[in-house]
Amino acid sequence: MFLDMKKRTLKYFIAVFLLSFYSYCQEPNISKDSTIIHTVHGTINSDSLGYVLSHEHIMSNFGAEPDNVAVYDEVELFKQVIPYLKQLKLAGVHSIFDCTTAYFGRRVDLLKKISDFSGIHIITNTGIYGAANDKYIPQMAYDADATSLSKIWTEEFQKGIDGTTIKPGFIKLAFDAGPPSEIDKKLFEAGVLTHLNTGLTLAVHTGNNPEAVRLQLALLKKYDVDQSAWIWVHANAVENDALLFEVATKGAWISLDGVKETSVQDYLERLKRFREQGLLNKVLLSHDGNGFPRGGEIRKFDAIPQNLIPMLISNGFTEKEVHQLMVENPKKAFGIIKSKK
Ligand SMILES: [Zn+2]
Repeated sequence: MFLDMKKRTLKYFIAVFLLSFYSYCQEPNISKDSTIIHTVHGTINSDSLGYVLSHEHIMSNFGAEPDNVAVYDEVELFKQVIPYLKQLKLAGVHSIFDCTTAYFGRRVDLLKKISDFSGIHIITNTGIYGAANDKYIPQMAYDADATSLSKIWTEEFQKGIDGTTIKPGFIKLAFDAGPPSEIDKKLFEAGVLTHLNTGLTLAVHTGNNPEAVRLQLALLKKYDVDQSAWIWVHANAVENDALLFEVATKGAWISLDGVKETSVQDYLERLKRFREQGLLNKVLLSHDGNGFPRGGEIRKFDAIPQNLIPMLISNGFTEKEVHQLMVENPKKAFGIIKSKK
């Protein structure tokens, strides 16, 4: 009898432990500012994103001719990318925003398999890439107006991409260098309309192009969209910090996404300057790496966990500041909220 009770008590404690462990896994400390994120596996709470790389390419056919359905040697792709992502996961990375757009290699079905096998959250995109001298802009984008383009992208958000139920987690667009062209402007307006329909954030390849920055900020204003819905992608190409600080102060996100093992010192110095301005809360860090560039060797994306973060810590950055850069900022930047206007 006594033994029975002891057994029952033990079973009770095991059950309570398992239940609380289970609910801990299901709801990891949901915070007040949590929103939702669409991964290739479905919707998750933004608190579950964890440590993020905000601009990478799991694979792409960039440089090749545009395609409607990208073709890869899948055996080679998986053999190269999955072990690499597993290593990244061991280094602490939880989530990757994949910036390969339609027409140069987006394949959401393959991204889902890669996410399955690597255990890393992957977030894909909608939109059209307007840089590379318009090479990856399909004819239909010239024929359609901004509203009809936004309907196509909004439908991907509502129903899924390419006949799957996989939804985009952000809008990816791009501007060529020099004065913004009509088509790049139209694609951006279509992106803004899509944002208004969906709450998806706009990540826009802009680089060192202040004219394109000014145009985009003016269009956001025209549509009454808050600048925090916009990411200045490849802002690391800008040498003068003044414009970056000015734009960040208004709420936009500054994506410093070219980190390499050989450039971490430059990133350290720049991050110190952002910290002095009190603007670390507007910076996103990434590598613009590529796991399978046209079937070639990996363009690496591990210098942040391997080199930059240890360097930040040994140069006086706190764990809290690193957490801000790698966890809090991406969570805020990409959280799907329609109220960003
Ligand atoms: Zn890129």
